[in-house]
Amino acid sequence: MSGFVEKPEPVQVPGLTHLHTGKVRDLYRNEAGDLVMVASDRISAYDWVLPTEIPDKGRVLTQLSLWWFDQLADLVPNHVLSAELPAGAPADWAGRTLICRSLRMVQVECVARGYLAGSGLVEYDADRTVCGIGLPEGLVDGSELPGPIFTPATKAAVGDHDENVSYEEVAREVGPETAALLRRTTLDVYSRARDIARERGIILADTKFEFGFAPTEDGGEELILADEVLTPDSSRFWPAEIWEPGKAQPSYDKQFVRDWLTSPASGWDRHGEQPPPPLPQAIVDATRAKYLEAYELLTGLNWSDQKL
Ligand code: ATP
Ligand code: MG
Repeated sequence: MSGFVEKPEPVQVPGLTHLHTGKVRDLYRNEAGDLVMVASDRISAYDWVLPTEIPDKGRVLTQLSLWWFDQLADLVPNHVLSAELPAGAPADWAGRTLICRSLRMVQVECVARGYLAGSGLVEYDADRTVCGIGLPEGLVDGSELPGPIFTPATKAAVGDHDENVSYEEVAREVGPETAALLRRTTLDVYSRARDIARERGIILADTKFEFGFAPTEDGGEELILADEVLTPDSSRFWPAEIWEPGKAQPSYDKQFVRDWLTSPASGWDRHGEQPPPPLPQAIVDATRAKYLEAYELLTGLNWSDQKL
């Protein structure tokens, strides 16, 4: 079982047409035809969108994405048009709302990995490859790879797992030129971000990008970095100081949630039919603090200085 424990009703705003309720984001179209992305405080774990929100989480994701888009602007254009609150939007949308170019999205999750974890580790353990890329013997959970690799996945619906696919499969899907462009851009952006994070004591183990195409003036199309970037939801961040290959590394953000959900205290069976229960306040507080800490460590800014 998986999905939303309680699917939220979309907020109605005059002039905005609701398009989609994602696991975390609500998507609208404005009258200019642009996309309005509102990052909620929803959190997901074990394929469930939990019934409890983490206050400010959506703001952290949005402000961190904006910060990264700036750091990466010389490498790749991004979809952000404005961070201004649309007229008539609820005050709660402040800081969590971006107006973005509506793109023809590439239906591939562009994942870069510099370390072995998650589905990469599962594949490696089975046959020493990840997405068809051969890797050396002797790697363990959390090992650094000889170099970053592009490990694409297909986009799954809410509640389903994304599925790793080979580069050849991506090339068949989007054409060889686009596949090569996706791989090159994904690895360039990952490498830049990895170096920035490392200077701040954080290992960027892996991350997922989404790209889209926008028309250019000369009648062609250009690749644009879309969605959220380099947030705790789209990336594995590990504190460099306590990194220790050979075991699961503590995840920056959701560790408290995962640990509690799988502990006897929650009374929940991860493999059963029942949806997960609400989170206790202490778990909410600790998780919120982790998201804020990730923002502050990476950007070097104070969360409380936000002018929202
Ligand atoms: P998850 O990220 O956990 O897999 P999700 O993808 O279902 O969940 P959200 O991240 O909550 O959903 O919603 C964002 C949606 O907006 C995604 O479907 C993403 O592909 C899409 N999207 C992001 N940027 C753009 C853009 N510029 N133009 C069109 N669609 C976009
Ligand atoms: Mg998403």
